[in-house]
Amino acid sequence: MSFDPESVREQFPILKRQVNGRPLVYLDNAASSQKPRAVMDAMTRLMETSYSNVHRGLHTLANETTEAYERARASVARLLNAASTSEIVFTKGGTEAINLVAASFGRSLVAGDEIVLSQMEHHANIVPWHFLRERQGVVLRFVPVTDDGRLDMDAYRALLGPRTRMVAISHMSNVLGTINPAREIIEAAHAVGAPVLLDGCQAIVHLNVDVQALDVDFYAFSGHKLYGPTGIGALYGKAERLAALPPYQGGGEMIGVVTQDEITYADPPHRFEAGTPAIVEAVGLGAAIEWLEGIDREAAAVHERALYQRVVEGLNGANWLRPIGQAPGKGAIFAFNVEGAHAHDIAQILDRYGVAVRAGTHCAEPLMRRFGVTSSARASFALYNTLDEADAFVDALGRARTFFA
Ligand SMILES: *Cc1c(COP(=O)(O)O)cnc(C)c1O
Repeated sequence: MSFDPESVREQFPILKRQVNGRPLVYLDNAASSQKPRAVMDAMTRLMETSYSNVHRGLHTLANETTEAYERARASVARLLNAASTSEIVFTKGGTEAINLVAASFGRSLVAGDEIVLSQMEHHANIVPWHFLRERQGVVLRFVPVTDDGRLDMDAYRALLGPRTRMVAISHMSNVLGTINPAREIIEAAHAVGAPVLLDGCQAIVHLNVDVQALDVDFYAFSGHKLYGPTGIGALYGKAERLAALPPYQGGGEMIGVVTQDEITYADPPHRFEAGTPAIVEAVGLGAAIEWLEGIDREAAAVHERALYQRVVEGLNGANWLRPIGQAPGKGAIFAFNVEGAHAHDIAQILDRYGVAVRAGTHCAEPLMRRFGVTSSARASFALYNTLDEADAFVDALGRARTFFA
């Protein structure tokens, strides 16, 4: 397989639109990516032909929809190279997947038990653990981040110990673009008997993830950054890990037997899927994964890195610019501040040129604090972005800067 961004681009109707009289340059992909026609069509087709609730039915539509829903689960299992489809739990996103683990695994934790996080975590992988600190006296330990945006691995090893109950760290930072050394993190955690949850919301979009090769215990991600719909994501959990977890929410679909006096629970993954799931969205996510299977993802990753390099080279020598995150081998995310300008103003001026970037804390306040800033702007690339768009961004940023010089 080879990779042609132009023909990929053709499959995303929204990329043809104009913004403020200019061609849209969409560089807010780390917040959410656009959707190919194949995803929209799969969702529409389901609703036009087979739609029903899943699992409980004895009629044709219910069976067809259940089959489509479970086929989507199999697609997620393939994407992650999970050993079994029963290791895949559908959630409403990466946030819910992490909350599921924190709430369910966390229930048995006691005061003084430790969770190891890092300074580069998204709030989705901080706040659910703070709940355990507030309610149960669990201690949160944060791995520091180096000046160039790497995890300090010596500090990480030093934080591990007999009270470590879980390590929860992002596989790829949504601000720095840093790709963390997952194998090393996992090996060190396992050596002290602690399981590892990787927040894969960014990594899953850009890397080939193999949960078996990583030997990771839990892996969480969202559909909407992976060219799929909103409202759907997944949690991978090793079979024996999921089997040991109590339910997260209660309701239909997740039980064995319910009487007035007692209750038994279904096996994973259904134990963790209370109520009617996001059926159409799950099918959309399955379609996004099948669509990605038709793409040479390694070549796409090379293309994305070339986009990032183009921006770095285009801005080389700009003494008014402060990039955040320069780890070796990092992914295609460019976070920065412009001297004398607020990131929000930069984003608004770029929008006048049709360039969409995000500005703010990127749900990573501890990381902003680490770098001594209150916010930053961020351009993040997807496989459908082009070198011309990278140039357009550099050009628009140069113009935006003149407002503040
Ligand atoms: C986006 C993101 C999340 C949260 O995902 P939602 O889709 O908002 O649930 C968590 N972690 C990282 C690294 C992210 O980029």
